[in-house]
Amino acid sequence: MNVYDSQLVAGLLQQCGYNETNDMSSADVIFLNTCAIREKAEETVHNRLESIQYLKKQKPHLIFGVLGCMAQNIKDDLLESKPYVDVILGPDSYRRIPEIINSRNKKNMHKVDTRLSKFEVYEDLFPSRQGGINAWIPISRGCDKFCTFCIVPFTRGRERSRSLDSIVREVEDAVSNGFIEISLLGQNVNSYRTEGGGFADLLKTISAVSGVKRIRFMSPHPQDMNENLLQVMSDHDNICNYIHLPLQAGSDRILNRMNRTYTRCEYLNLVKKTREYLPDCSISTDIIVGFPGETEEEYLETLQVMEEVIFDRAFMFKYSSRPGTKAAEYTDQINEAIKQNRLERLIKLQHSHTLKANLRHVGKILKVLVEKGSKKSSFQWTGRTEGNMGVIFNKSDEKIKDIVDILINDAKGISLFGSRISEKELMNEIN
Ligand code: SAM
Ligand code: SF4
Repeated sequence: MNVYDSQLVAGLLQQCGYNETNDMSSADVIFLNTCAIREKAEETVHNRLESIQYLKKQKPHLIFGVLGCMAQNIKDDLLESKPYVDVILGPDSYRRIPEIINSRNKKNMHKVDTRLSKFEVYEDLFPSRQGGINAWIPISRGCDKFCTFCIVPFTRGRERSRSLDSIVREVEDAVSNGFIEISLLGQNVNSYRTEGGGFADLLKTISAVSGVKRIRFMSPHPQDMNENLLQVMSDHDNICNYIHLPLQAGSDRILNRMNRTYTRCEYLNLVKKTREYLPDCSISTDIIVGFPGETEEEYLETLQVMEEVIFDRAFMFKYSSRPGTKAAEYTDQINEAIKQNRLERLIKLQHSHTLKANLRHVGKILKVLVEKGSKKSSFQWTGRTEGNMGVIFNKSDEKIKDIVDILINDAKGISLFGSRISEKELMNEIN
């Protein structure tokens, strides 16, 4: 979402006559787009701010701004401790950028706008995308779920969906600029709802846009998954056989305390249903360890769910206390050493599961989208399966952006290795 928002801001800056540069010392405007999801993300931004403040001294006319969730969350702290920051804009205030840039010569440069909007979805603004394969397209903003650990509802505000028409226009625009894979984004992408329909309707519509070879989406919330959506995924070949389904924890008491609104059993039933509709579906997840009050037994319940599902991949986090959230006030916070130990055991287990999940593909023919030359050899390509796994194979007559049939021969670590299958060989295989 932040990559997209940065592209949106780049588009607004281009309208003001600016071009992008990779050389910070030659820039007249620097905006740092920030994330507040975990303390680590915030620390990174603080370090970055410290390391670039010297530029402001060298170039007093430089406009230096902080954008996004951290701007929203700690604007007072920024104003006080980082006086060299001129502009602080929350995620709903980017439309003000041209006006702010145009007033750059006026004396008092400090501009702060962190008001959250109930309506802003940047409906009519398209981002400045450099060429590529995958275009991120947000379909909604904000979140109403209020998981007790999460800062997003506070930094990004209430959930609102963008109109179907404007999404389709942006998809068509991306395709006309050479993008062939569309990744639909939302904090809870599948709670998308407008007068034009819900998320499954949107998927169906986008799937019919000419030139869209692949559609992905993230992140769906387990509570908003339904059989209609699974049916649509199964009916349309260009919707990837892949779901990122955040679990967070395997214990019902912890899930309840997190306000996740599903039980372990409901989650496992959902995985079962998904595999009934989409037998080869790759499933990835998010997991938090060391949530306040999590006992060793409750942590082991998370590992049990992992053993039952065998996720293809997992994004694993130590719980990070976010001031202002409900969980930050719980008095039974877990100490850092325990959190670290739980995370390390979790990662180790997931590594073995990723390999196991990858080995399931050996001997199968998978559709692979050719993305770029392999780093290891100029005679090889790297591509992606529908399940978002990297595949390395020898080059023949295919080109970047082709989708080709690859027989998977081996799996090592997080990569698959295979060889191209011609159409004739594929027909023989099928027959
Ligand atoms: N909306 C999605 C959902 O609820 O399933 C997830 C979006 S959230 C921005 C991305 C992930 O960050 C979450 O799934 C969670 O695992 C992690 N996360 C959020 N807040 C966190 C916190 N305070 N500490 C550690 N991880 C956190
Ligand atoms: Fe955060 Fe996702 Fe929960 Fe919303 S649903 S509060 S984005 S973790």
